[in-house]
Amino acid sequence: MSWENNVRKVIPYVPGEQPTGDVIKLNTNENPYPPSPRVKKVLAEFDIDTLRKYPDVYGGTLQAKLSEVYGIDKDKVFVGVGSDDVLATAFLTFFNSDKPIIFPDVTYSFYDVWADLYNIPYEVIPLKDDFRIDREDYIRDNGGIVIPNPNAPTGALKSVEDLEYIISNNSDSIVIIDEAYIDFGGKSVLPLIDKYDNLLVVQTFSKSRSMAGVRIGMAFGCKALIKYLNDVKFSINSYTINKLTEAAGTAALEDEAYFKETVAKVIATRERVKPILKQLGFDFPDSASNFVFATHDTVPAEEIFTSLKERGIYVRWWNKPRISNHLRISIGADEEMDELINALKEITTR
Ligand code: PMP
Repeated sequence: MSWENNVRKVIPYVPGEQPTGDVIKLNTNENPYPPSPRVKKVLAEFDIDTLRKYPDVYGGTLQAKLSEVYGIDKDKVFVGVGSDDVLATAFLTFFNSDKPIIFPDVTYSFYDVWADLYNIPYEVIPLKDDFRIDREDYIRDNGGIVIPNPNAPTGALKSVEDLEYIISNNSDSIVIIDEAYIDFGGKSVLPLIDKYDNLLVVQTFSKSRSMAGVRIGMAFGCKALIKYLNDVKFSINSYTINKLTEAAGTAALEDEAYFKETVAKVIATRERVKPILKQLGFDFPDSASNFVFATHDTVPAEEIFTSLKERGIYVRWWNKPRISNHLRISIGADEEMDELINALKEITTR
């Protein structure tokens, strides 16, 4: 058909399954604990009449609260519809060079999708054999850099020092550090935004703040970066943050104690489960995130994945080079992890 010649054809990102019903869902790194009770209260008391009007274009109280909680000027804070939205906007805004952008391989499988969508040339930098990022690999000519820290799906953490080395040696490129999982034990590069005008730090409410269903992501950077980001956003859709999201996100940020408590619980479960998985014959890079990326010494990952699914336990498996014998297992509640461990005992000892 002739009109089909003019269609922008893409190979889309494949999100993890969202099964309903009575399953143990350890496949998309959601938080096993509910959002802060304050979120429930604010939504229950929400004044529906206010929905008649458009929301604030910057996310209003949510942007102001982020500025207060993180101690960063409002005009250095950008709010989007989940960090996928923030990252997509950042790719479109900052990666506009003839030179290839660079990011690791293995990494978050959305980066090459956005690069393809926006016709951004890219080169992937293979991780070392132990799935580590070598900072020296990022000292080369490029049109931009994106690195998740901790990396996904490996869970491996880079030090602030290593990332600063990459940022400071690439002052002609924008460096995006995707900190989707930073709250689970990593140290953020956020303080560096005042030192480097080429650094954009992206975070999310989807993991550590238990709000994947609300869709809030944010970016922090120097004023000029945030202005450019807003220019592109306003050229697509000004009113991205709806009023319910704004209210829910602001309420969550008002409850730092709850945030710290639930994150600590997830970390404690992760640390409890790590040695048990090792005992069962699994190996994985040490994880500073809310998942582990594990391979078994005898049973193929695909077989474990299928057997777990038959038992109603969902984890993530990719049939891709280098990682097809690995499973990404999100850290759930203690009882969920106990069920997982029992199932893994059966599957790996049969
Ligand atoms: N970055 C990384 C590394 C991720 O794993 C995810 C979750 N799939 C995201 C960004 C996007 O998360 P969200 O859009 O829910 O903030």
